[in-house]
Amino acid sequence: MASLFEKDISLLKGVGPKRAQLFHKLGVATAGALLHFYPRAYEDWSSPLPIAQAPFDNPCCIRAFVASQVSESRIRKGLSLYKVTVSDSASLLHITFFNNPYAAKRLKEGEEYYFYGKVGGTFTRREMTSPLFEPVETGPRIRPIYSQTEGLSTRQIESAVRQVIQSLPDPLPDSIPQPIIAKYRLCSLRFALEKIHFPTNHTELEAARRRLIFEELLVLQLGFFLLKGKRRKENAMRLSRDDSSAFFARLPFSPTNAQRRAVAECLQDMMHGSSPMNRLIQGDVGSGKTAVAAALCYCVACCGMQSALMAPTEILAEQHYHTMQNFMQGSGVNVALLTGSSSAAEKREIRQQLQDGNISLVVGTHALLTDDVAFRRLALVVTDEQHRFGVGQRAKLAQKGNNPHLLVMSATPIPRTLALMIYGDLDVSVLDELPPGRQPIDTFWVGSNLRQRVYAFIKKHLAAGQQAYIVCPLVEENDSDLASAQEYADRLQQEDFRGYSVGLLHGKMKAAEKEQTMRDFSCGKIQLLVSTTVIEVGVDVPNAVLMVVENAERFGLSQLHQLRGRVGRGKQKSYCILLSDAQNEEAKRRLNAMCRTNDGFQIAEEDLRLRGPGDFFGARQHGLPDLKLANLVTDMRALNCAQQTASQLLAQDPDLSLAAHRGLRVQVKRLFAQVGEGGMN
Ligand code: ADP
Ligand code: MG
Repeated sequence: MASLFEKDISLLKGVGPKRAQLFHKLGVATAGALLHFYPRAYEDWSSPLPIAQAPFDNPCCIRAFVASQVSESRIRKGLSLYKVTVSDSASLLHITFFNNPYAAKRLKEGEEYYFYGKVGGTFTRREMTSPLFEPVETGPRIRPIYSQTEGLSTRQIESAVRQVIQSLPDPLPDSIPQPIIAKYRLCSLRFALEKIHFPTNHTELEAARRRLIFEELLVLQLGFFLLKGKRRKENAMRLSRDDSSAFFARLPFSPTNAQRRAVAECLQDMMHGSSPMNRLIQGDVGSGKTAVAAALCYCVACCGMQSALMAPTEILAEQHYHTMQNFMQGSGVNVALLTGSSSAAEKREIRQQLQDGNISLVVGTHALLTDDVAFRRLALVVTDEQHRFGVGQRAKLAQKGNNPHLLVMSATPIPRTLALMIYGDLDVSVLDELPPGRQPIDTFWVGSNLRQRVYAFIKKHLAAGQQAYIVCPLVEENDSDLASAQEYADRLQQEDFRGYSVGLLHGKMKAAEKEQTMRDFSCGKIQLLVSTTVIEVGVDVPNAVLMVVENAERFGLSQLHQLRGRVGRGKQKSYCILLSDAQNEEAKRRLNAMCRTNDGFQIAEEDLRLRGPGDFFGARQHGLPDLKLANLVTDMRALNCAQQTASQLLAQDPDLSLAAHRGLRVQVKRLFAQVGEGGMN
């Protein structure tokens, strides 16, 4: 099937170069990609309802014959109505088309059709406006609806898909080996591809979905196992001793049991594991992940080796750098900061010292990934806020030096079983306990009509020496959005918060400016910080006890939880105020969920329920390959089966080199190429 899969979309009949561009916009460049461009939804024309039973306001299909002639009435210039009455012999349905003589002409009195549309009107007079219709000879079926783009309709996509399906070779090689197909009673690939697009009934559609979901999850699991297998190399960087007690004694607080446990689990891997550590630390915001990382970096340094700590933003890298310096002060552990905006001379100096081994811990951003950073004895790589890093980047880091240990810290609390499967290539430690004395953050949702009261509430806290954030939702940090954030901050400073000091923080500021602003906020010089979501991850200023989120409906649930995690980090009572005039039901549910609970795991579950994992993980950005059909929450059972199957397959054939596994191998490569895992060959 290789040739068909690669066939350029423009070579299909009726496509051509111009329309091909539109397909490209939808992410479809080849005939093969088109096969896997699954319908977004379906129109069910398979089980027509009697007119009297059709629900109001939900699209449905009705089978009826045309009971009158089509009448035309010109209401005014440019507006003509075409009316016709249809009947299923029990009831009547009144149909109206606007300005559509073509549709009206196709309907013949006395003939029978399927009509598809929403029923309106009253119980005694049912109506449909501009329905789609087909003669009954077409037969009952379920029609695909594709995501469209301007200039390319779902019907045009449908006809291109039909062409590809018709040109599938016979027999069509199936990438899932026969015994597995038999074991799980999966349908064949041909059936699945045809019926996912053109099912005649729900049973067929379900069978097709089940097979394709299984395949997707199987490929995902195989990919993760292979990645993990790649790391099953000799452990060259074993730690010889455990200095964690000495580190804990240095801390200004006593670590929680969860922190101690996580450190012990990591040290177990690093001291006694036969292969390098590959571990995920999951903990809700504020659970103290940084201290866990610090303990490990400290132990590494005590063994004369080096660590690298990577953060997703410069602000966070700088903050970690200061935290690490504080924790390590006077211990002889040398800490350095290396980011994209370090000067060339600084970079050169730090690189030299890393190579010489004078620096034991380097904190940075992606700049640490560049190839010219070499370490003398890199033993540990920590990436913070894992969801911003891809699987591929992680693998790239792992290749640095001599197979270092890998620790990933994630603040997206997801159920443990799910984490184990999604990050199938990682072991998991959970920080399921917050430091003592934390009070729940009181969260309120208020309409913008109460804005002045919200400002008064902020002022009350500022006057008491505390600090606050106002978060603005900038979707794109583009120039005009940034200008309006600047304007907003200026206005607050000059009007509502005159006499207080207001600062502004956004992602496009120069690194030095950002650092200065964060420093001013940390030390209390700035009292009210207006910020974009750059503060979403990691920022830690315990004296900030109040957060106001503007247009809160624009944020996802997990993101709101992350934002809220910037307050409630000390012993003082903290508040989060969500300003929103949301009308939309889903947005209301999100805001209510935030007010109801502080528990990140519950929030994550609700978020998964509301959005589905595709959006939840933001697929590519978070390094999880794009799943088209599978839902990691609702398809948990299939995920289990896929995981078992993957491990059995790899036990027989560790690198999928058998001919029977070639199809799967190709797919694994394709899926993981999306997330930049180039090393899988
Ligand atoms: P997160 O898990 O969100 O990254 P941090 O590591 O930033 O959390 O820690 C949040 C705050 O809690 C920091 O101010 C940190 O110093 C403090 N902290 C961490 N562990 C403890 C502890 N065991 N007791 C008291 N405070 C702690
Ligand atoms: Mg953190």
